[in-house]
Amino acid sequence: LTDRLSEAFRNLRGQARLDEKNIQDGLREVRMALLEADVNFKVVKDFVDRVKEKALGADVLKSLTPGQQVVKIVHDELVELLGGEQTGLCLKHKPVTIMMVGLQGSGKTTTASKLANLLRAKHKMKPYLVPADVYRPAAIEQLHVLARQLDVPAYPSTTDMNPVDICADALKKAAEAGCDAVLFDTAGRLHVDEPLMEELSAIKARCNPAEILFVADAMTGQDAVTVAEAFDKRLGISGVVLTKMDGDARGGAALSIKSVTGKPLKFVGVGEKLSDLEPFHPDRAAQRILGMGDVMTLIEKAQDTMEAAEAEKLAAKMQQAKFDLEDFLTQMRRMRKIGSLESILKLIPGMGGMMKKLGDVQVPEKEIDRAEAIINSMTKKERREPSIINASRRERIAKGCGRTVADVNALIKNFEQMNKMMQKILGGGGAPKMPKMPR
Ligand code: GDP
Ligand code: MG
Repeated sequence: LTDRLSEAFRNLRGQARLDEKNIQDGLREVRMALLEADVNFKVVKDFVDRVKEKALGADVLKSLTPGQQVVKIVHDELVELLGGEQTGLCLKHKPVTIMMVGLQGSGKTTTASKLANLLRAKHKMKPYLVPADVYRPAAIEQLHVLARQLDVPAYPSTTDMNPVDICADALKKAAEAGCDAVLFDTAGRLHVDEPLMEELSAIKARCNPAEILFVADAMTGQDAVTVAEAFDKRLGISGVVLTKMDGDARGGAALSIKSVTGKPLKFVGVGEKLSDLEPFHPDRAAQRILGMGDVMTLIEKAQDTMEAAEAEKLAAKMQQAKFDLEDFLTQMRRMRKIGSLESILKLIPGMGGMMKKLGDVQVPEKEIDRAEAIINSMTKKERREPSIINASRRERIAKGCGRTVADVNALIKNFEQMNKMMQKILGGGGAPKMPKMPR
C-alpha cells in the first residue's frame, strides 16, 4: 500500500500546477492503491470523493503549493478515516469490565492477557482474568497458563459451568481479590451464529461491561470488517482490536473499520508475546501508510518558514523583473532555514520545471554568510537598485564588510545571473511559463 501511494504522491507533488485532470489522475492511483490493500469499496469511494472535493476547492488550486496541499489533504482525510484522535479504554468506573468477543482464532485469549499486562503496567491496575469459553477443550487451560505467566489471578472456570454464571460470579471473586479490572475471555465460533450471540448478549446483560472489544485477525481483511458489523449490530461493541498486524496483513481492515462500524480501532496486536499490543494512533498510522513522515515535516517546516503571501509577492516581483538585492538576501536567509534553493523554489508555482535546469543547488553556509555580510553593508538604495553600484561604491562596500572588491563583484555578478535566468525562464517565452498569480 505504501509503495503504491508514494508513487501516486510523487507524481502529485511533482506537479507545479494542478488542474482537475492532474488531481483526477493522482486520485485514481490512490483509489487503486486502497482497493489493492483490500479496503472496502464504498469506503474507498467516499474517501476519494471527499479528497477530490477538498482538493478541487478554490483555495488549494490557487495556493502556492497545490501538489503538497493535496498530499496534505489525503493525509488529513486518512487520519479521519482511521478514527481521528486516539481512543483509549473507558477506565472511569471501577472495577473496569472488559469483554472480549470475536470469531475463533482471532486472538481473544491472547489479547485478554496482553490487556491485563498493559493495564497493570501502564495504569497500575490489578487485573483479573476470566475464562468463559467452555466449549473449546483447552481454552480454559490456555488462559490459566497465560495468567500464571503474568502472575495475574484468574477465575477457576470448568467446562461444566455456564459462561454467564462464570462471568457474574467472577465479578464477585475479583472484588474479593481486590482487583479493579476484570477481563472476560468469551467463546468464539468459526462463523457468526445465533446461539453464540445469545450467550454473549446474556453475559452483557448480566455483567454490563464497560468495554466490549471486538477482536479480529487483520489478515482476514474485509471479512474482519463484515464480522465486526455483525457483532456490533447484535451486541453494540465499544471498540476493535486487530491482531496479527505483524503478519502480511494489507491494512485494509484497519482503514475500513471505523467508517463502516463507527467504532474506533483501539489496539493492534503486533506479535505473539504478551507485550506485543499497541494502542492504535490514527495519525501515526496514516503517516506510516503514506510512508512520508519526512515529507510531512518538510511541508510543515516550509509553511512555517515561508508564509504563502510572502512567496506570492516574491514571485510577482520576479515576474516583473523587480527582484532586487534585498529579496536576494531574504532568499539567502531562508535557504539557511529550509536547506536548499530547491526547497524554496519548489514553493513557487511554475518553478517545478526550473528545478531540472538548476539541479539541486545547495548553497553552502559560508557563502550565505559572506553574501549576507556584503549585502548588509550596502545602502537601501543600492539594494533596491543594484545597477547604481559603481566602482567607488564597490570599494566602500568591500571595506564595510571586510571583504575584497572581488568578493563584492562576484556577488553582484551572481545576482545578475540569477536574475537574468529567472527573466528568461519566466518571461522570455521559455518553458515553463509562470502561471498567473492569484489575487
Ligand atoms: P482466540 O481463539 O480468539 O482466543 O485466539 P487466541 O488468542 O487463542 O489466538 C490464536 C492464535 O493467534 C494464537 O496462536 C496466538 O498466539 C496468535 N496470535 C494472537 N494475536 C497475535 C498477534 O498479534 N500476532 C501474532 N503473530 N499472533 C497472534
Ligand atoms: Mg480463546
